Amino acid sequence: MTSSKPVRTRFAPSPTGFLHLGGARTALFSWAFARHHQGVFVLRVEDTDVERSSDAAVQAILDSMDWLGMQPDEGPFYQMKRLDRYAEVLQGMLAAGTAYHCYSTPEEVEAMREAARAAGRKPRYDGTWRPEPGKTLPAIPEGRKPVIRFKNPQLGVTSWEDMVKGRITFDNEELDDLIIARPDGTPTYNFCVVVDDWDMGITHVIRGDDHVNNTPRQINILQALGADVPQYGHVPMILGPDGQKLSKRHGAVNVMEYDAQGYLPEAMVNYLARLGWSHGDAELFSRDEFVAWFDTRNLSRSASQWDPKKLNWVNAHYIKALDAETLASRVAPRIERRGGNAQRPDLAEILALFKDRAETLEQLADDAMLFCGPYQPAPDELVQQHLTPAAREALAAFAAAASQTDWTREAVSALIKAQLAERGLKMPQLAIPLRVAVTGRAQTPAVDAVLVLLGKDEVLKRLASLA
Ligand code: GLU
Repeated sequence: MTSSKPVRTRFAPSPTGFLHLGGARTALFSWAFARHHQGVFVLRVEDTDVERSSDAAVQAILDSMDWLGMQPDEGPFYQMKRLDRYAEVLQGMLAAGTAYHCYSTPEEVEAMREAARAAGRKPRYDGTWRPEPGKTLPAIPEGRKPVIRFKNPQLGVTSWEDMVKGRITFDNEELDDLIIARPDGTPTYNFCVVVDDWDMGITHVIRGDDHVNNTPRQINILQALGADVPQYGHVPMILGPDGQKLSKRHGAVNVMEYDAQGYLPEAMVNYLARLGWSHGDAELFSRDEFVAWFDTRNLSRSASQWDPKKLNWVNAHYIKALDAETLASRVAPRIERRGGNAQRPDLAEILALFKDRAETLEQLADDAMLFCGPYQPAPDELVQQHLTPAAREALAAFAAAASQTDWTREAVSALIKAQLAERGLKMPQLAIPLRVAVTGRAQTPAVDAVLVLLGKDEVLKRLASLA
């Protein structure tokens, strides 16, 4: 870092829909950068596209940031509440001569572009209304409302050392005199960003590389305003597993959909952080480690690829690492949504049976329904396959002996072993019929543990209902 000013970063979403994975990852990098430097993370809502912006989208973005634990230190600020400020800066630029009124109609500008194309030049506004010393401007057409254009430097280059991509340079003659206010006076996108970054004292802009072409324009406007130019870092996009831009075709792209699907926010943060950023070969790290290690030099210059299998692996890790009570509190609402009873005092023990194999909280809730939901007798094919006459006989003997037994895991396990010895059976010959009879499933965690958690009365009742 070359600047000695306190670090201020921002996340500046346009509230035109839910927060998608790419936006969340960019926000995470800005957030981590601010945290790493004990700086300030600002949230700015870029809502000037009134047609496409909505309060619901703002709320969805706030919810997602909250879920991921990226609370802003300042904001949310709303651009629509700052229109007076943009008007003020526009007036200042007109007065200073760094912006000018342009009365060309869109059709005329299109014709200029066409002419440039025809002459083999880059299509652009031809500068008809650009004031220059000694130049006489055309007469103002009556009744026509002007746009305001920025008087972009025509010579030299605009160049910056991108925190991700290295040096990027644009020839100024490639850059049109950008429209910064429309005929109705409303400011345009690039202009609002500039005024906001300036007013909010943003020192580091980390954003998607779809904004690289905006950056030289924004830098030139900032310089015209006498503002400090932030450092920029443009993060490459996320691709789907097939190498195409990540989209709905590849699965959920809405951050909150991952909450619904049973991903833990700490797993999402870890996975997203690693997507396009690395610290040695670390794959699993805490939020604090991420912040401590975050360095824009370790942001990848190439696009990263979404990998659902890896996300599941990371999520499984975080599920395993959760303490039993916390896990129970996170799975309970999902069990209730399935109509199950999540109030059982042994919920933590139930989940402990499954948690080492679960990839999502939804999967765990499904598993827990074995205990928290109503008894679902086995489908016919399982009954036919596993509840043979010999198996039923063994189950009846087991039930008879069970009624006399303590209902601890040790006792139940001893009882099963005794039955195996007595009847000359191998473990699966009793364990699978027991599972099918008592749980309706052929596969469950350790059968003794399952029986103990179901409770003796319930097990005997289910075994009795077989006859
Ligand atoms: N509002 C822009 C977007 O959602 C971000 C602008 C910026 O970060 O400069 O893509």
